[in-house]
Amino acid sequence: MLSTKNFTQEQIKDINRVNIINFIRQEKTTTKQEIALTLDLSIPTITSNINDLINEGYVKEVGIAKSTGGRKPVILGFVKNAKYSFGVSITKDHVQIRLINLENDIIDETEFPYTDLVTTLSSIKDHITNMLKEHAINRKYVVGIGLALPGVVNDEHLILEKAPNLQVHDFSFIRFQESLGLRVWIENEANIAAFAEIKVGNSKNIDNLVYISITEGIGTGIIIKSHIYKSNQKKAGEFGHTRVSGGQLRCNCGRSGCWELYASKQALLRLYNEVSDIETTSIDQIFDSYDHGDSLAKAALLEYANYLFDGVENIILGLNPDYVVIGGEFGKYERILKQVLRASDRFKTDRLVYEGSEIIFTGLEDKGALTGAALLPLEVIFNYNSNVI
Ligand SMILES: [Zn+2]
Repeated sequence: MLSTKNFTQEQIKDINRVNIINFIRQEKTTTKQEIALTLDLSIPTITSNINDLINEGYVKEVGIAKSTGGRKPVILGFVKNAKYSFGVSITKDHVQIRLINLENDIIDETEFPYTDLVTTLSSIKDHITNMLKEHAINRKYVVGIGLALPGVVNDEHLILEKAPNLQVHDFSFIRFQESLGLRVWIENEANIAAFAEIKVGNSKNIDNLVYISITEGIGTGIIIKSHIYKSNQKKAGEFGHTRVSGGQLRCNCGRSGCWELYASKQALLRLYNEVSDIETTSIDQIFDSYDHGDSLAKAALLEYANYLFDGVENIILGLNPDYVVIGGEFGKYERILKQVLRASDRFKTDRLVYEGSEIIFTGLEDKGALTGAALLPLEVIFNYNSNVI
């Protein structure tokens, strides 16, 4: 619950509304009396908010409770299908679209290959129109659409400033928003996956973490006190482009020795292909071979784990978060990555704890960014201020 100390009347009104709707959502059913006791609010304040929430469709009266003396209280229920939200995750390989309701139930989900950004946005528009038609949902009940993007994002001005993997820079989503007729939010994929972790993932209720999205490159999302930390320049979290010791390879960011050149999906493929006679383009195959006792896969993965830890160590020494969460396409290889990380002798116990920070794996598999993207628009209902600092 949010504290109301040092706020203006207007802010207190917003905070009260958010606290009330979050409480009803969490409890599913409740009464004004229960809300008053738990949130320490007056009955008139609650009544005025509940009337608004009923008018807007978020809450409805679902029955009458037994009297505890006095008038029988009305039971209030949360209407999870009052509003909907779309999440879209765009990578250079594919596009995922998810439709959810207010309780994050997945109503529909689809996936298709990425071509170029303009064509892809047009396909997204078609998919959204079709999904709404199929589920008989009126557009006015859709809060908006959250986009997870692989690059540097200016969320306030809806600009994708730099996305080398998509070969796009300074792309504005304003026209897309206008043509869609729905409000659009955009965010960097690692930031939004980090946000999903504290909302619904394995790090629920943890307020400091760094999420590492391992895909073609490495993106990192920083959560500080439950907020995405981006800085005024909107560029924080580029750990993928910090130098690892001895690294000489040149990066497309213009620097050399960047961590992502040594610990991304491409890096593992390179480490394996350097020692193997048969070239592979599939990381699945490398992890599979490791499981079948293949010594080349084992050697490549052990070397990879050392590079991975080089960057993780920098993050831990710099920020000392509660959790470092490994996700992106590598989140699903938890068992094997834990084995190879443990083999490095850096951890004293079975848990991967280093200087008090624990390395864990995402429970959202490779859908962290998609999950966060769908949850993002709902923040206007369930949060009273910006989740970005
Ligand atoms: Zn770089």
